Amino acid sequence: FKFQDAGLHPAMLKNVLMSGYVTPTPIQKYCIPAIKMGHDLIAIAQTGSGKTAAYLIPILNHLMGKAKKLAAPRPSPREFMAGTAPLQRAEPLVLVICPTRELAIQIFDQARKFCYRTMLRPCVVYGGGPIREQMIQVGRGCDILIGTPGRLVDVMQRTHAMSFRRLKYLVIDEADEMLDDGWQEEIEKLMSGGEQDDGNVKYMLFSATFPGALRRLAKNHLAEDHLRVR
Ligand code: AMP
Repeated sequence: FKFQDAGLHPAMLKNVLMSGYVTPTPIQKYCIPAIKMGHDLIAIAQTGSGKTAAYLIPILNHLMGKAKKLAAPRPSPREFMAGTAPLQRAEPLVLVICPTRELAIQIFDQARKFCYRTMLRPCVVYGGGPIREQMIQVGRGCDILIGTPGRLVDVMQRTHAMSFRRLKYLVIDEADEMLDDGWQEEIEKLMSGGEQDDGNVKYMLFSATFPGALRRLAKNHLAEDHLRVR
């Protein structure tokens, strides 16, 4: 099974191959078809297993096919050159929550490679960085939002800065780490903030371990027919 056989959008396949990936890792072999079929999932995965691409590839691949309709409006070239494009309310299609600034930046870098020459624009926010600058980035059009829980809640609570009404996918990466670090309340807030009336958001939990608190989170938010991958 190679990426060429995964039924990917041509732009996605090109970006994956340009990233130097040829053969999917085991977790990618399981996750790519499962997410493509529209399942919620829990994946038990360690750092270094290729877990980031395991969710980014199928999620971005799905959105790429509809990017013309879904992507946030871009400033015109003239507005862009003049720096006068008005800031927009961020309405991400994908939200990725992860425990550290370093991981957020790594995920953002992979997302940027996979989104190259597509309409989809990734953004990253994390604690310790200047929130003003991050809000400006997010306000320039944000389709894929990656961030740490405390900062994400901060951004979400600034009136009118963000809405989850268009959210399609919510990913929790290194979930056990975040629960250990005491971010349960923020994660709950972000997960409930993403819940749509039509129940159409797909949830993915990635974690090295599967403690009780994570089981409860899964029970409360994931579809009953979610898949488990390890
Ligand atoms: P992760 O487990 O997501 O932190 O990924 C670990 C590293 O493996 C990252 O540097 C990725 O760029 C790289 N990687 C992920 N998937 C593949 C693949 N299929 N082939 C080669 N490298 C990969």
